[in-house]
Amino acid sequence: MKIQRITVFQHDLPVKGGAYRMANASVTHLDSTIVRVESDCGTVGWGETCPVGPTYAPSHAEGARAALSEMAPQLIGTDFDKPVLLNRKMDSLLNGHRYAKAAIDIAAYDAIGKQTGRSVADLLGGAVTDRVPSYYATGVGDPDEIARIARDKADEGYPRLQIKISGRPVEIDIAVVRKVWEAVGNRVRLAVDGNRGMPTRDALLLSQACRDIPFVLEQPCDTLEEIAAIRAQLCHPVYLDEGATDLPTVIRAANGLVDGFGMKITRIGGLTPMATFRDLCEARHLPHTVDDSWGGDIIAAACVQLGATVNPKTYEGTWLAQPYIEGHYDPASGVAIEDGHISVPSGPGLGITPDESIFTRTVASF
Ligand SMILES: [Mg+2]
Repeated sequence: MKIQRITVFQHDLPVKGGAYRMANASVTHLDSTIVRVESDCGTVGWGETCPVGPTYAPSHAEGARAALSEMAPQLIGTDFDKPVLLNRKMDSLLNGHRYAKAAIDIAAYDAIGKQTGRSVADLLGGAVTDRVPSYYATGVGDPDEIARIARDKADEGYPRLQIKISGRPVEIDIAVVRKVWEAVGNRVRLAVDGNRGMPTRDALLLSQACRDIPFVLEQPCDTLEEIAAIRAQLCHPVYLDEGATDLPTVIRAANGLVDGFGMKITRIGGLTPMATFRDLCEARHLPHTVDDSWGGDIIAAACVQLGATVNPKTYEGTWLAQPYIEGHYDPASGVAIEDGHISVPSGPGLGITPDESIFTRTVASF
């Protein structure tokens, strides 16, 4: 099965109810990039990459499309059913830009699954469940408002909540964590996410002021060096998210620097490196999420298919953009959260079939 045609679409995803705020980004709509890759036997695979604005990570929507245009002409004729070789080919054409390569890698698994009648979860080693846990991430907000959201989401059945903090006086963040703990207690597991926005001083103040509250502290500071500098003085387990940019960094961080990861499929380069990441974490007994930054049903299905293969002992769940954005690519079997959990789409490949008429802005075709 060889790649015969690659079509790149731009697609806007409006955020429900106004801007979503994090320490380093505020977004009102998402600029997603969709790839439709057709093989010489007519099988179509779908991929997607959707940076959450240009400041969350060193990636942006136009960058994804430029990287795809750089590689695509020379991917025509390449084996589509050999993901490891396909990834090496992409690496030979373009240095870095894993978030763009991820879209092609995801499309390859979708096509292989559709061609063979197997789910992507089966191709990645086999699903251990047909329903994966999700978690809800609050935006950065006022203590009472975030506590109210936390209580509502715990009532909905989410097993885990992620509280966004930082980018403001740490005293407010401490008040948020306290109010949330008073509101939900041990009903849900908590992560407190600084989105790399805290000075080491504030991370220490927050952790020490909340030493009686059990939570994991996710990416409080910008660099691995900053986290390493305060690691011994923190009262909470530390997870790495934005800083876990590639497999070599994951290996380095897993060697005692952190206790787990928030991981995004497109950041690390797609399902092929994500499966390696999953296995590294299982070998070191390090918990991790299976997320992406944002995106629609294609990204969501990729996250859930891989999430279904993770050992439940080390799986922290899958965050989806779905509650924050309007509509589905697949009107019949779009991926959605119910009672804090997500059903794994059934059927071959990613288990979803986008309605192609939704994608009206063709950016390039090769
Ligand atoms: Mg995070």
